[in-house]
Amino acid sequence: MSGRHGIGWAEESWNPTTGCTKISPGCAHCWAERMAWRLQGMGQKRYARGFQVTTHEDLLEKPLHWAKPRLVYVSFMGDLLHEEVPDEFIGRVFEVMARAPRHRFHVLTKRPERLARLSPRLPWPDNAWAGATVENAAHAYRGDWLRQTPAAIKYLVLEPLLGPVDELDLTGIGWVILGGESGPGARPLHTDWVRSVRDQCVAADVPFYFKQWGGVRRKETGRTLDGRLWTERPKDTGQLVFDGMEARDHLDERREGGHGAPHAPGPPRRGSTVREDKKSRRILVFPPGERACGRPRATRQLANPYLPLSHYPAPRPPARPPAGAPAGSAAGCAPTGRPFRGSPAPERRGWSCGGLRLTTPAHRFALRWPRR
Ligand code: SF4
Repeated sequence: MSGRHGIGWAEESWNPTTGCTKISPGCAHCWAERMAWRLQGMGQKRYARGFQVTTHEDLLEKPLHWAKPRLVYVSFMGDLLHEEVPDEFIGRVFEVMARAPRHRFHVLTKRPERLARLSPRLPWPDNAWAGATVENAAHAYRGDWLRQTPAAIKYLVLEPLLGPVDELDLTGIGWVILGGESGPGARPLHTDWVRSVRDQCVAADVPFYFKQWGGVRRKETGRTLDGRLWTERPKDTGQLVFDGMEARDHLDERREGGHGAPHAPGPPRRGSTVREDKKSRRILVFPPGERACGRPRATRQLANPYLPLSHYPAPRPPARPPAGAPAGSAAGCAPTGRPFRGSPAPERRGWSCGGLRLTTPAHRFALRWPRR
């Protein structure tokens, strides 16, 4: 399977292999396994074997057809370095990565020992980054294997972090990503564990990316640590860009108050809906494309959409109504459905449709059944 997803630090997944077997405590609630069984139940031929290790020859060259540079997660639905994937097939995957220098590939594995052993026989292009998952201190040794690969950037993914990792060897490590477990049965992530890893990264000058607190509803718990987002990335990004990823982070930074509170955000993005919450005497900002009615969801409250009114420029005076517009009609109303200032108030009972306030059944009928 290949497609967009919500990894947060990669943009695309490419699955020349699917399936895996559990190897350590971090696998207990494997998302890929759940998804594979679900796809099998839906009758997807590619997942006819469920979560058993399968190689997909027809997907091998897929990245060569993507013209735009992408951040690609390799074998998102499994582990490329699984014992059942033939050495020769892994070699072909690396060859494709070398032939697509415009993309950046992330090879993340819980089996870095195999990656290290195969490394001398693999073509290691600069655009292939290697990562190892470390869920607790007992599995920090995976970083040692990772260091034996010649990957341009070696990174550690502490997700789901299940315990403290107070002595993380960051020698030769270019990036650390940390996150809590999410989904059904998610195990808790303690703040002290996150702070400890963050402080070690800061001391060693290693970029630290905090992905999420996790939990059963991960969108509600957010990803703010000590009042700011941690979205650092390796500095040597070469020619490749992090367009989608940076845009997403930037949006979150704006929502959550930016790096280093207190932060004064700029005016809302064009197209946002701004509403005043009379109860809390704050301003609610709904980004473009999101419904701006009803009570804001908990995610919005945690994401700090409440900004003091002084952050926003004074509203522009509304346009004058067109001369001779009939009182209270659709033609005398602003596109937002609010009446123009100075125009007679529309009838209380009316309908809204397509941004127009309709005041009579005749208007409503005319809009539903336009004349040809
Ligand atoms: S190694 Fe990764 S893909 Fe394999 S079972 Fe564990 S969590 Fe799932």
